[in-house]
Amino acid sequence: MYLKRLELIGFKSFAEKTVLEFGPGITAVVGPNGSGKSNIADALRWVLGEPSIRELRGSRVEDVIFAGAEKRRPLGFAEVSLTLDNSDGGLPVAFTEVVVTRRVDRGGEVEYLLNGSPCRLKDVHDLFLDTGLGRDSYSVIGQGRIDQVLSARPEDRRGVFEEAAGIARYRVRRREAARRLAETEQNLLRLGDLIQEVS
Ligand code: ATP
Repeated sequence: MYLKRLELIGFKSFAEKTVLEFGPGITAVVGPNGSGKSNIADALRWVLGEPSIRELRGSRVEDVIFAGAEKRRPLGFAEVSLTLDNSDGGLPVAFTEVVVTRRVDRGGEVEYLLNGSPCRLKDVHDLFLDTGLGRDSYSVIGQGRIDQVLSARPEDRRGVFEEAAGIARYRVRRREAARRLAETEQNLLRLGDLIQEVS
């Protein structure tokens, strides 16, 4: 699996539709300070479901939307599409090419698409869990991230190894199962009360 294409429309400094094609192997993005290199990495993390706007160097959700420039009006939405080559089956889906899209407008309306079909954020997270590309993975190392890992609490640092070892998926599933169990126990209690009332 490799990153084939990144398409940005209205994302941060990329007001115009911008398409970046990547081949297998190493790609370097070079440019003057402030030209948008880090915004490309931010776009990659954003489309993969990054929930924290602070991690994307913003403070409000709409900070990812092009805010206008001297001769250009602000835009009303931001959209990023990521195309992955999946001919080696690295992602657990039958498609040889997977396109993930995230879109947000100034009203805060968010949309995710997988190969053009609307999906939930959870579907995007599930698709990338343990592939090394997900929201909590370490395939995108931002500035200061290494310091952060080194000074992290031991349990947070363990998360790094769990993701790398491919067991993060099971931790997420266990958490979900525990939540459903707690809900079911609550329902059972309520049912018990109802039975008492009617009997
Ligand atoms: P450096 O080499 O200094 O790290 P860089 O090439 O990584 O710089 P970025 O940090 O990606 O640059 O881009 C910063 C630019 O993006 C700034 O000019 C900033 O004004 C612009 N920018 C960020 N968010 C928006 C937005 N929402 N709308 C318009 N421009 C934005």
